[in-house]
Amino acid sequence: MPKSFTNINKLIKFLKIDKKNQKKILLRSDFPLLLPYSLAKKIKKNDLTDPIFRQFVPLTDEILKKPGYIKDPLSEKKFKRSKLLKKYNSRALIITTNACLMHCRYCFRKHAEKFSNKNFDKEIGLIKKDKTITEIILSGGDPLTLSNNQIENLLKKLDKISHIKILRFHTRYVISDPKRIDQNFIKILKNIKKQIIFVFHINHPREIDSTLIKATQKLKKQNILLFNQSVLLKGVNDDFETLKNLNLKLIEIGIIPYYLHQLDKVEGSKHFEVPIKKGKELIKMLHENLSGYLIPKYVREIPNKKCKTLI
Ligand code: SF4
Repeated sequence: MPKSFTNINKLIKFLKIDKKNQKKILLRSDFPLLLPYSLAKKIKKNDLTDPIFRQFVPLTDEILKKPGYIKDPLSEKKFKRSKLLKKYNSRALIITTNACLMHCRYCFRKHAEKFSNKNFDKEIGLIKKDKTITEIILSGGDPLTLSNNQIENLLKKLDKISHIKILRFHTRYVISDPKRIDQNFIKILKNIKKQIIFVFHINHPREIDSTLIKATQKLKKQNILLFNQSVLLKGVNDDFETLKNLNLKLIEIGIIPYYLHQLDKVEGSKHFEVPIKKGKELIKMLHENLSGYLIPKYVREIPNKKCKTLI
């Protein structure tokens, strides 16, 4: 895995944060700092408004308790059997790992139970029994933190289940380490017969660079479908120009903008909330200025609902 900042004081020094701005940075957190160098290098020095900075550097805003902001905002515990999560008809999600390459401060799973067991026999057994499931979502954490061997074992087992038609990866890993999509990984995917889909979690156009583009092209060549979902985040992408540029850039490289998510109200994330009224205005502006295929669906997740709710 690439080198990362885990020590906040080293990061403060690297980003040349002055004394006044340092007061706004949280020095200790239960969800620790994890920021790869490759992303830290993209941050403007001493700029607390930088969109990459805001997504990954803990601020004192996180310790403010706000009503309605809770540890498990989507009530996932209720829907979980072992590492398998089944909330919606026809789909099931495997929490393949807790590990991520970076810690995003708004993550709705940041308080989720930790585990190290990478054996998925129990989950495979549950999937085999439930013939209504046609699609498996590989989530986490980030599934690309698993080794190629671990991914191959899991994919091969899923590939053998006849009622499963689609295997979908959800990942943010590539915004920091696109070289993870190496030849061995591609070879593994090539040998899978089911349709594979990648949903990237890219929030800002500055997360896209030439190495990421190369990685996505390798996936495209394998007939893998590529989508993106973003979270609407205050101070990161809650303006028309950023969303327009993000979606244009995605389409240019063959990734379909799929969802724009309203923030899930996880404890410590209130400072990222964008009012729904503003979100709707942004979507309206996108509609008025761009082709329909460039506009993601603006959705929110409401616990116990059978699908995402269109806003
Ligand atoms: S990469 Fe995804 S799962 Fe990991 S911290 Fe970020 S949002 Fe959460």
